[in-house]
This record gives sequence, structure tokens and C-alpha cells, in this order.
Amino acid sequence: MIKKFAEELAGHKKPGLISHISPDGDAIGSQLALFHWFRQRKIDAVMFNDDPVPSNLTWLKQHEHIQVPEQDQLDQCDCIIFVDGNHPSRFGKSAPFLEATDKPLYLIDHHLEPPKELFRNMWWDHSASSTAYLVYELFAETGLEQIDKDVAEALYCGIVTDTGSFRFDSVTAETHFAIGKIIETGGIKPSDIHAQIYDDKNLDQYHLLGMALNNIELYCGDRVATTHVTEDMLTKTGCTAEDIEGFVNYPLSIKGVVVSMIFHEREGRVKVSLRGKSVMDLNQIARKFNGGGHFNAAGAWHSGPISKAKEDLVSALADMF
Ligand code: 5GP
Ligand code: MN
Repeated sequence: MIKKFAEELAGHKKPGLISHISPDGDAIGSQLALFHWFRQRKIDAVMFNDDPVPSNLTWLKQHEHIQVPEQDQLDQCDCIIFVDGNHPSRFGKSAPFLEATDKPLYLIDHHLEPPKELFRNMWWDHSASSTAYLVYELFAETGLEQIDKDVAEALYCGIVTDTGSFRFDSVTAETHFAIGKIIETGGIKPSDIHAQIYDDKNLDQYHLLGMALNNIELYCGDRVATTHVTEDMLTKTGCTAEDIEGFVNYPLSIKGVVVSMIFHEREGRVKVSLRGKSVMDLNQIARKFNGGGHFNAAGAWHSGPISKAKEDLVSALADMF
């Protein structure tokens, strides 16, 4: 099946690779690895993202080729590949174009419930640890020797970030086997990559984290933890919304906590990030609040304020225990 998928992709002359708003390590890592795959075939792929590459990922080679989508550039593509997101609404301003276009659409992704009818073909597995793992499978199918250093860094970055550094439920022997191949073939040093991704914090971010940790509250018999970050907290610490990435994972280390949620004010609404330990389908909860994602990691939106968002989400979770 992946053979046919690879052949179909390689039959295009100018594929557009688009990833989701607020891109994370998996979005950027898989997009870049796929970009290299096309370039190795002398295919002129173009990468599109609404939002900039996060500052801890700008060491990844070729990231500067990722551009904000303009209509004329989208028009020039002979197909569009959704990377690490399964619905046009995940891709920001290009959503209306993606909804309406008659260009062939492909999907390479691991999120639940893709609208399958949209796609000419897809390489999709919701049990995959990351989209980068699925891109690795494309390399494995078409020749592991194509995993040079640039590809290996991109794949490693996608897998390590989407698995919480190999600690989530989605991690299997296959994940580690793939990582072994990526390290070996690409000749990369994992500790260097971890340092680039994770050891780039400044003191302001730690002050913000301190405030967020101070805001932790427990609900549902201490099984659900919530915290929040307000615009005011960002202003006080000189941080931006990007700096909140990863905060939601901290309360999951409290003994007994099985779901963690962080609420933050964003563009006049409240963004909710949910993380869990395999006790309930957080994608289903997030879908009730204009979002989605995975069983154990999802994002949702609420009209606010934060206190009401907390009340509504906690009550939706309470019904599921
Ligand atoms: P995060 O909490 O880091 O924003 O997102 C967690 C997971 O849920 C990611 O896999 C992300 O792609 C997905 N996700 C986040 N926000 C949304 C959303 O608004 N809609 C959907 N469908 N998925 C989301
Ligand atoms: Mn992902």
C-alpha cells in the first residue's frame, strides 16, 4: 500500500506540503523530511505554513524554505499533501482554498478520524507515534540509504517531540527500531538534538512556568489537573504563547493525575491543551469544543473566559470517569 502511495507522490511535479497552524516538532520535522524525499527525486516540492518555525527548531536544515501560503503559489502546485493534520481547518488561512480546490489532495498523518473522502490517497495510521514515523516508513519503503543527516535530524525531531521523548503510550519496539535506523543511517548524535530542542529556555520562560505551576488545581478525585496562562502573565514575564509549549505535561507527573489541561487566552478565545494517560478518548472531548487530536493528546477552543472554559471542560471530563 505504501508502495502505491510513494509512486503516486513521486508522479507529481510540484507538490505543496502544508502543515498545521502553530507547528510543532512533528509538523516541521515531517514536512522537512518529506521535502528532502522529493528533492532527492528532483521534484520541486514547496512547503507552506501559516505560522513561523518555532525558535527551538530553526537549526533544522532547509526550514527557511517554508513559506506563508499565497494564493498564486498554491495555484502552481499540482497536488497538496496535508502533513500532520487531517482537516483543512487545521491549516489556517488556506482552509477555504483546500476545501474548494479540485487539485488532488493527499494525507500523511496520525490524527484520528480523517475525512477520507477528501483524499486521493493517504498514508495514515492513528496508532503511529508521530507523522515523522510515517514519513520514515516512506523512506524505509523506497530506500533507507536516502536517510542522510538532514533527513535523520528532521525525522528524529518529529518522533522525539511527538512521543514526549519516547515516554508516551504510542511508543513501541517499532518506534525504537526506526530511531535506531535513523541514528545509524543518518550518523546523528541524539544528545545534540535533545539539547537543541529542549535546552534553549531562558529565565523568563521559567518564571512563566513557575506561575503556571502555581495555578495547578486538581479535580475529579485528584485525577484531573488544570492550570492556565493569562495574557497578563505573558506580559509580566515578557513571554509569548509559543513559550507555553510543553507546560501541560508537568501535572501528569503528579501521582494519580491521569488527565492534564492547560488553558490560555489566545486571539480573544481560550485555547485548551489536553493530555492523558490512556484513560479516556481526549479527541472525543476536544471535538465537543471545536477541536480534536489524538486519544491521549488533543487541543480544543472555548469562547471563554478561562474560568468558564475550565468549568465546562472539567464537567465534560467528569462525565467520562
Ligand atoms: P496541542 O495541545 O499541542 O495544541 O495539540 C495536541 C494535539 O491535538 C496535536 O496533535 C494537535 O495537532 C491536535 N490539535 C490541537 N488543536 C487542535 C484543533 O483545534 N483541532 C484539531 N482537530 N486538532 C487539534
Ligand atoms: Mn504529530
